Amino acid sequence: MRAISILWQCAPVNPESCKKYLHKEWKNAEGLAEDVRYYGKWMRDEADKRIGHLYPKVQLPKEYGGSDATVIAWIWARTVICPNPACGARMPLLHSFALSTKKGRETWVEPVVDRVTKVLHFEVRHGVGAPVGTVNRLGAKCIVCGISVPVDHLRTEGQAGRMDAQLMAIVAEGKGGRLYLSPSKEHETITKEVKSDREFETELSTHPQYMAAPRYGLRRHRDLFTSRQLIALTTFSDLVGEAYAVVLADSNDKVTLSLDRLCPWFGIMSKLILLQMLVVTYKVQFNRYVKFWINSYWACLAQPSNLMPQ
Ligand SMILES: [Zn+2]
Repeated sequence: MRAISILWQCAPVNPESCKKYLHKEWKNAEGLAEDVRYYGKWMRDEADKRIGHLYPKVQLPKEYGGSDATVIAWIWARTVICPNPACGARMPLLHSFALSTKKGRETWVEPVVDRVTKVLHFEVRHGVGAPVGTVNRLGAKCIVCGISVPVDHLRTEGQAGRMDAQLMAIVAEGKGGRLYLSPSKEHETITKEVKSDREFETELSTHPQYMAAPRYGLRRHRDLFTSRQLIALTTFSDLVGEAYAVVLADSNDKVTLSLDRLCPWFGIMSKLILLQMLVVTYKVQFNRYVKFWINSYWACLAQPSNLMPQ
């Protein structure tokens, strides 16, 4: 605790604050706050250089001003192939088509079916009238041919690796709040085509108390995420270690030397503190990158079968 207390009252080590506030007397956590801002920005800028191209902006429709907007989330529907031989469409598995149920701002997606090709796409609609979902505990219903499909078929398709996903809506940052937009081919393609070069083969628990995902063919932790999410996670994980090295280099190892004497656990502690600093900073400043994976992480813990890839 003493080490934390001393660290808490340190002057910042980042070069920008050292130069700007040469004679400032630092109180309480002011120095730490300066470092959190500086190294958090460093991480954000580095992440932007490395993976920013995977997160393009979206052009708003004319009724929203027509400018480019930052995407907050991509909402996907998992799909399986309809077993009806006369149909064979990709069935979206959705508990609900509603995107927002807020009174006066109701928004939902309409599945528009091409009766010739049996391919469907989604269009965002406003107002009341969202259709009922296509899936429940017993199974799913094909919205192209109308047949009901038992839940066993969904599991078989998942375990055979034939479960896919289709972009349902894009959520963008608008001046007055969230804007729901119809999917764009560019955004769907980027997510599907990018590949993570890291292999994570750790398996999910198959204990029925914990996870339903393995029953649907999502066997490994990596199956819960898209490649783009995995790339974002590994990029931030790399940056935590790199930021730690930058902090030490900027402090000329003063931080290590002073704290090493005070606490033999410094190595672990300092990394935890740095990680905590960065997580807090992400939450405040870096919604663009982190919100989606933090949400996905918690969503996967809470209800893996509903996890939507981003
Ligand atoms: Zn069908």
